[in-house]
Amino acid sequence: MESYGDPKMDSRLRIAKMYSVSITIIVLSLFSPLSESNQFCDAGIGYGESTCGVDSSSPSKILIKGGTVVNAYHQQVANVYIEDGVIVAVQDNIMVGDDVKIIDATGKYVMPGGIDPHTHLAMEFMGTETIDDFFSGQAAALAGGTTMNIDFVIPVNGSLSAGYESYVKKAERSCMDYGFHMAITKWDDTVSRDMEIMVKDKGINSFKFFLAYKGSLMISDELLLEGFKKCKSLGALAMVHAENGDAVFEGQKRMIQLGITGPEGHALSRPPALEGEATSRAIRLAGFVNSPLYVVHVMSIDAMEEIAKARKSGQKVIGEPVVSGLVLDDSALWDPDFQTAAKQEFSLSPTILDLHFFNFLV
Ligand SMILES: [Zn+2]
Repeated sequence: MESYGDPKMDSRLRIAKMYSVSITIIVLSLFSPLSESNQFCDAGIGYGESTCGVDSSSPSKILIKGGTVVNAYHQQVANVYIEDGVIVAVQDNIMVGDDVKIIDATGKYVMPGGIDPHTHLAMEFMGTETIDDFFSGQAAALAGGTTMNIDFVIPVNGSLSAGYESYVKKAERSCMDYGFHMAITKWDDTVSRDMEIMVKDKGINSFKFFLAYKGSLMISDELLLEGFKKCKSLGALAMVHAENGDAVFEGQKRMIQLGITGPEGHALSRPPALEGEATSRAIRLAGFVNSPLYVVHVMSIDAMEEIAKARKSGQKVIGEPVVSGLVLDDSALWDPDFQTAAKQEFSLSPTILDLHFFNFLV
């Protein structure tokens, strides 16, 4: 595992490099006996240090010995030899000299670090900010074997370059590999030009369009089409948060009129039909300009069926599954205890209403 201190490093390079260097040894007992204040330090990460995880005294040659190496297609008991952060060999019986640090992984799994492609660390939104920043969120990820995240840069007053600068600053607290997607919240010549700069100079090659959050991040179909065309011309990936924001707004007004102001109103104001509609619209408009599409956090059968149909017909559409979407439903939103009902994992947008879409990404 390797962390990068230079936030300007091209994120495509980070991703490419990550594949070659990130390796996580699953050591289940690693965190349990440690107090909260020193657990990150004992994991090789200094709490709150911007350079956490980067240790100049780290050996440049490491042999991870005797573990079960797990890849997507295969697992085998093998040794892993790493030189200057790059995996050089994975095989039986690697002989090394005295200058190599040996880690005994007998009885443990050795596997590539996971990538979380959808995070919002230190995101300022609707007058508040997400509680995890780039350090605390990444430290938690590392504890679970995720060694890279891709966070969404939110433009500042629509400005991509100002948004980028602000996220580079937030990411100074990073302790693992990361990359950026970027949201597009308005459209003009400057945004169009800045998208090009982001792709060519900053390594950001995926852009997210919000069809929800009316009055805040939501964009029109006209902007969506401009964005799709621009992504296509740059070879960038277009992403959508697919809910019909106008209809959600209508649903929210209806809930307030009915006096339903608890967490359950969140689900009732944005039923699956609104996710299905926006997913279908985004897919059809992407098809219209012949641009690939990535639909973030697919939460309902309605949306999943639209994606499955498009994929079956040969269109390039990717649906992003989210763990909460796979294992939870919306019943907790009706819990009489407000704290339980209001927990973020139950109150995601779109709301989690259906459980039965395990297979759509095949
Ligand atoms: Zn998101």
